[in-house]
Amino acid sequence: MTAITNHLPTAELQALDAAHHMHPFTAGGELAAKGARVITRARGVTLTDSEGNEILDGMAGLWCVNIGYGREELAEAAARQIRELPYYNTFFQTTHVPAIALANKLAELAPGDLNHVFFAGSGSEANDTNIRMVRTYWAAKGKPSKSIIISRKNAYHGSSVGSGSLGGMTFMHEQGGLPIPDIHHINQPYWWAEGGDSTPEDFGLARARELETAIKELGEDRVAAFIAEPIQGAGGVIIPPDSYWPEIQRICDKYEILLIADEVICGFGRTGNWFGSQTLGIRPDIMAIAKGLSSGYAPIGGSIVSDEVAQVIGGGEFNHGYTYSGHPVASAIALENLRILEEENVIGHVRDVAATYLQQKWATLEDHPLVGDARMVGLMGSIALTPDKQNRAKFAADEGSVGLICRERCFANNLVMRHVGDRMVVSPPLVITPDEIDTLIARAKRALDECYAEVREQGLLKAAS
Ligand SMILES: *Cc1c(COP(=O)(O)O)cnc(C)c1O
Repeated sequence: MTAITNHLPTAELQALDAAHHMHPFTAGGELAAKGARVITRARGVTLTDSEGNEILDGMAGLWCVNIGYGREELAEAAARQIRELPYYNTFFQTTHVPAIALANKLAELAPGDLNHVFFAGSGSEANDTNIRMVRTYWAAKGKPSKSIIISRKNAYHGSSVGSGSLGGMTFMHEQGGLPIPDIHHINQPYWWAEGGDSTPEDFGLARARELETAIKELGEDRVAAFIAEPIQGAGGVIIPPDSYWPEIQRICDKYEILLIADEVICGFGRTGNWFGSQTLGIRPDIMAIAKGLSSGYAPIGGSIVSDEVAQVIGGGEFNHGYTYSGHPVASAIALENLRILEEENVIGHVRDVAATYLQQKWATLEDHPLVGDARMVGLMGSIALTPDKQNRAKFAADEGSVGLICRERCFANNLVMRHVGDRMVVSPPLVITPDEIDTLIARAKRALDECYAEVREQGLLKAAS
């Protein structure tokens, strides 16, 4: 086998990719016919592909490259750690400096009494840990029947069997025998599409109270925990009404069920604070982290847990762990990433500069005939594409067909925006500058215009009845 390099012609790379590489969340045959875009390099907020196109990455990879691409310091931290100690485990009464340092740093950054870290290799693994952790917690407290975890429809918590079950994506549950037992899903606080005639505030309360109803129906003695993203990411950047989280918190407190905040996207500055829980006023017992923890430079995730949970779990042996829990190289990279986020005041930049500016520009997209509901918190935002914004209508066409056209037009205009059904979402690197934001918005507007023309031409501008 010859070496495969960036210097092969694009068509050859695409053919080799199609021959042997199976892509996540992808119809393989369809992609093979079309050819994947080959990304060869990236700096700051800009990707370069094998044809030399320079693309503004409005998604920070997959919501993760918070400090932007190409930071030498992280390469140096990785190289140093590989030379010193590339791997050692933490299973059998051993530890190492990078895991110690990262756990201590996370305890310092995390709010309240979240002072203990169980490491994983990804967000999915972190949530698998959380399933076992909350059930083990209640068993250790003499209440093994408390095993049900309540989650939400259209939530995303990962793609392993456990975390995919926690998530509320029906198209995922349709494959591979999900969900596992004792996971219960309530409705999401998505006012724009599901709120009907109620006000956002009333709707937020009603959706939060579904948690209370579920606890009563399932039985207080059966429910272990509630898990939710502070703001749903992969579900389409669904920003809950202000009334939602305080009511959820009240219910979790009242019935003494553990609250798990899935901070995999919201964590590490995305919402303008270190954690989304701080922005939304949530007091979780456990937080899932990954993605921005290392800005995507290395696969690492984990669970940050409260003093109380750690104490109960520590009372016995927790028969759980991953070969790469606290991997020294990934930990060293994460630490260096956190140092940069902190010392360069990246979160201050999000709050005072980037989010303020992008939100103001983002709101103007609502003037476009195809756009309703342009919303954003920190640097995660979304727009709903709609044939009739007055009535918050869906398209008559299959959900996602217009979103897909829009995404293609974005790519054609050198902008990465993702579509979730007929919502378009953005989540750029946190270091994005006002000039780059101008470019992002200009390209988004051009893409929307082209999408609108195409949608009209194809007769897709009809509302579902
Ligand atoms: C991406 C994501 C996960 C899963 O993380 P992986 O690293 O892909 O396993 C879990 N929760 C949320 C909220 C996510 O966005």
